[in-house]
This record gives sequence, C-alpha cells and structure tokens, in this order.
Amino acid sequence: MLRQEEVARLLDVDLLLERLERAFVELSAGRTSVPPRIAAFVPKRGLLAAMPGYVDGVLAAKLVALFPDHDPSHQALVAVFDAETGTPQAVMDGTHITAVRTGASSAVATRALAREDARVLAVLGAGVQGRSHLDAVRRVRDFREVRVASRTFEHAQALAQEADAVAVESFEKAARGADVVCCCTHASEPVLRREWLAPGTHVCSVGASQEGPELDRATVAAGLLCVESRVAFQPPPAGAFELQGLRPDDAVELGEVLAGTRPGRTSDDQLTVYKSMGHAVEDAAAAALVLELSSAGS
Ligand code: NDP
Repeated sequence: MLRQEEVARLLDVDLLLERLERAFVELSAGRTSVPPRIAAFVPKRGLLAAMPGYVDGVLAAKLVALFPDHDPSHQALVAVFDAETGTPQAVMDGTHITAVRTGASSAVATRALAREDARVLAVLGAGVQGRSHLDAVRRVRDFREVRVASRTFEHAQALAQEADAVAVESFEKAARGADVVCCCTHASEPVLRREWLAPGTHVCSVGASQEGPELDRATVAAGLLCVESRVAFQPPPAGAFELQGLRPDDAVELGEVLAGTRPGRTSDDQLTVYKSMGHAVEDAAAAALVLELSSAGS
C-alpha cells in the first residue's frame, strides 16, 4: 500500500517522461489492451470511472472519482497486478499520479511537437493541472518567459509566485505571443481563440468538462492535430467535445509521431495541437515506475 506522500516522493518526472514515451509507442502500435473507459454517475455530484490497462508488461487499473465541486476534483487509486500470474502487487494513491502523468504527457507531446526554439510558455488554468504543466512542460524546452492566467486572477497570482512565473490578467494576454500554450481549465466554452495564436504555436489541452469544449474549432482545425488515441473522436464522455465531426484519420497519435510512423511538425509556422483525454496506459506507466522505485528502495 503506497500512500500519497510516498507516491509523490517516488514519482520521478524525468523518468516518467521516458516511460510515457514508450507507453504511447506501444499504444499506437496496437500492443496494449485497454477497454473503453466506463463510469458510474452520482446525480449532480460526479462520477467514478474505471480505467484498466495492459501495456509494456504492466497490468494495472485506476479508479478515479471526478467531483468538480470537491478540491481536488480528481481523486484516484491505482492497483497493479503481476502480468505473469495475475497476483495483486500494490495499491497506491492515484491522485498524485493523475495530476503528474497528465502534465508529463503534455510535456512528451510538447517535446515531440513544439518548435525547438520555443521560449514563451503560457499556462491557462491555475489548478492542479496548471501546476503539473508548469513543472513538466518546462523540462522539455528552454523557456525564458512563463505566464499563468486563470479565471480567478488571485489563483493565477498564487500559482505564479509558487512556480516562479508571471501572472497575467486574461487568457488572451497569456496566449498572445506565446510559443507553447497549455490549456488546463475545467471550462465548457473555449478559453482560447485561434486569432490569438502566433504561427508555429504548440497548444496542449487537457480540459475535460462534461459540458463543452475548452478549445475553439478554428484552433483545432488549423494545423496538425495530435491525440493519445483516436478513441478521442468518439462521442463524449469517451471522446472530446473538440473533436466531434472531425475525421480521426486526419489526426496523428502521439505514439505514431514518437515512433516516426506518421509525421509530426513539418514547418516552423505550423500550428500543432495536442488534445488529451487521459489514457489508462499513462496511469499504468506511472504506477509501474512508482512500484519499481519503491522496490529498489529509493
Ligand atoms: P482544478 O479544479 O484543480 O482547476 C480547475 C481550473 O479550471 C481552475 O484554474 C479554474 O479557474 C478553471 N476553471 C473552472 N471552470 C472554469 C470555467 N468555466 N472557465 C474558465 N476556467 C475555469 O482542476 P484540475 O486542474 O485537476 O483539472 C483541470 C481540467 O483538466 C478538468 O477539466 C479535468 O477534468 C481535466 N483533467 C484532464 C485529464 C486528462 O488526462 N486529460 C486528467 C486530469 C484532469 P479558477 O480556479 O482560477 O477559477
């Protein structure tokens, strides 16, 4: 049994980036087993989703409660099983894993898709995911300026102070002139507009409101669209609001870009968009790393 403090102490983000890259490649190569996410809904309160997965020799399942009015809104447990025998090996906190693996997956996408010379990072949303993105995405490019905006300016100020960034008053002000924009809000109407984005910007969006899209259609349709898995094109809640009506084959999977089987960015002025829905392979990769580091006595 690994409690949250222990998971937080053990989970090494730089190592996680490597493990996530491998997991995405396995996913896109069709070597994983991940059934569609299912959930039980509590009227007006939230949901409890089950996310089992087998990837790269790891068999794990996450149970995640999403209660938007609770802080934190995502609370989870991850169980890991021995993939040779089926014997349970560990149960661990999944709340920290969910927070960290999501920002780390965006960092993997940013490393693969953002321009090498990206210098200005904008994070929209100052909650758990805003914090996670500020930590992870900064590891993959040499950012000179980091901006944070949130619906509530005081939240942006508090996070900016904690994370050595600059708080700005509006999403527009944060996004204009940024090279990488990470949307980390629970908004159900777009927080980003295509016209705010400079040519060559890379956008990550992890927002997963059950009521509407975080990104506007013009941004999603403007350049290269990248997803964890084409399941994201299914109707919500399995898929993303942003992707409805678009052709799955027009998008690339992150694992395809990493493996080199589909092209990533093809020019410096191309807009690239990574729309994340979260995937069980990310939790399995993170939980396996925690277990490995725990067993090694880290
Ligand atoms: P938090 O509750 O910690 O933070 C929510 C953030 O969204 C805050 O910055 C809040 O602003 C902002 N916000 C809420 N409602 C609105 C709105 N209507 N318009 C604009 N901003 C809004 O949540 P998390 O950081 O944990 O999660 C953020 C989003 O990411 C959620 O939609 C969540 O479901 C999703 N998520 C996706 C994952 C994935 O794998 N793709 C994994 C985990 C989460 P403020 O507080 O300043 O008012």
